Amino acid sequence: MIQETFDVIVIGGGPAGASAAMEAAGAGLSVALLDEGVDAGGQVYRAPVSGTGASSGQPDGEIGDALRQNLASSTVTCLFGHRVWLVEQGFKLHALGSEGPVSLQADRLVVAAGAQERHRPIPGWTLPGVIGLAGATNLLKSQKILPGQRTVVAGSGPLLLLVAQSILKGGGELAAVIDANGRTDWLRRLPAMMARPRLMARGTKWLADLVRAGVPLYSRHALTRIEGSDEVTGVTLAPIDDEWRPDHTAQVSLSCDAVCYGFGLMPATAITRLLGARHAYDAATGGWSAVTAPDGATDIPGLYVTGDGAGISGADAAISLGRITGRAVAVSLGRSTPATGALMKEAGRAARFGQSMTGLAMPRDGIMEAATPDTIVCRCEGLTRRVLDEAIDAGSRTLNGLKSATRCGMGPCGGRVCEDSAAALIAHRTGLTRQDIGQATARPPLRPMPLGQLAGEFNYSDLPMPEPAPQ
Ligand SMILES: Cc1cc2nc3c(=O)[nH]c(=O)nc-3n(C[C@H](O)[C@H](O)[C@H](O)COP(=O)(O)OP(=O)(O)OC[C@H]3O[C@@H](n4cnc5c(N)ncnc54)[C@H](O)[C@@H]3O)c2cc1C
Repeated sequence: MIQETFDVIVIGGGPAGASAAMEAAGAGLSVALLDEGVDAGGQVYRAPVSGTGASSGQPDGEIGDALRQNLASSTVTCLFGHRVWLVEQGFKLHALGSEGPVSLQADRLVVAAGAQERHRPIPGWTLPGVIGLAGATNLLKSQKILPGQRTVVAGSGPLLLLVAQSILKGGGELAAVIDANGRTDWLRRLPAMMARPRLMARGTKWLADLVRAGVPLYSRHALTRIEGSDEVTGVTLAPIDDEWRPDHTAQVSLSCDAVCYGFGLMPATAITRLLGARHAYDAATGGWSAVTAPDGATDIPGLYVTGDGAGISGADAAISLGRITGRAVAVSLGRSTPATGALMKEAGRAARFGQSMTGLAMPRDGIMEAATPDTIVCRCEGLTRRVLDEAIDAGSRTLNGLKSATRCGMGPCGGRVCEDSAAALIAHRTGLTRQDIGQATARPPLRPMPLGQLAGEFNYSDLPMPEPAPQ
């Protein structure tokens, strides 16, 4: 087992983590960077799987290629293909790679674990053929695989347009694009979008491509059901009101064999929750995240959070945010670094765009009315809405309470898929705020892992067995 000590450990090789690691290493610190992916780039600049072509065909593919080249020529020790499954105070970190377990230690820890996708349960959302909108970007970008032959793209936020346009570009057929936001919701965000004319122009072009291709676009509509018994055969959709409550009297049915469905992103907080950092809920930045200073410092000395993990600010802001944090870590260890004023300004401008898109994607609680009593909410544990509603009515008013009463969030996904929906359900049923409902306590392992690989050469018969007590 590798066991090493570094000045700084960075978890996450996306734009934020890779930039933080390079800044800290550039200031003369020893830095280890771990990521479960095969290379740096994170979600947005994901490296293509070998044999599927270079990333230059992707939007901003050259940014990812440059990030990987710069990292490779830096002094950062990169451990790709390593899943971090436990982080202890101090900071001691445990990961599992293809060659077995690894433990590393450092006085400074930068968590750049990015975001996770937000789902909302409706009948049929667990059928094979339904994938998350963000997950679909991975399939299209790194595997170059279309989700299906005839796909419905539904939910909210800018990933709708990105996924729909990528399917068209890949030669796929779109049955419809269904956006929970209406034209006025988009227009209200226009001033913030103007902060990034390049990104706004790109989005407008994607929309124009869809219109030109004759793709049916439904705005202020939502899916109310995904049809099929063991695979997707179609969808039912309905207009929604201001709170996104569906009008079931005006439903429309469409046939399709795949659905890309999601409601934006939320910061990945499992590591900072495990370490006991203070968190706050802010809908404008995607929900719960660790409370950080502008340089990423948390209330735990030596612990920093950067990029989307500190609040969804988007890919454009992530590099600047990572660089700011990398410099702050170096300064905290007595190194001198250039001033961060210009980087702060750039990060602020980019974050303004990213946060306006985050707000647009944020689902309103009326969408929970599309989930029937028999709809699965926690798919790992097979828990339906009826089971959760009964527990809420019986007094489970927090996520931890609901977890204790029903096992919601205790399956292999560790709550990443269901917890936000479960919290929305409590809010919808009781009127409590997200602050009241709270977060669930994080527990290791942070990622599903084969215990056999972790045990390595360990044998059950090696266990020291105490002698039987004398009679
Ligand atoms: C699935 C998904 C797809 C997205 N697609 C797009 C897109 O196509 N276009 C776009 O503009 N934005 C996209 N986004 C948003 C975009 O990824 C972010 O705004 C941007 O990448 C933020 O950069 P970051 O460095 O903070 O995080 P990320 O780029 O998400 O990087 C975080 C990294 O941390 C690693 N990580 C997390 N936890 C662990 C762990 N326990 N062990 C080891 N490694 C870990 C992940 O593998 C990842 O590489 C997507 C987000 C998600 C979640």
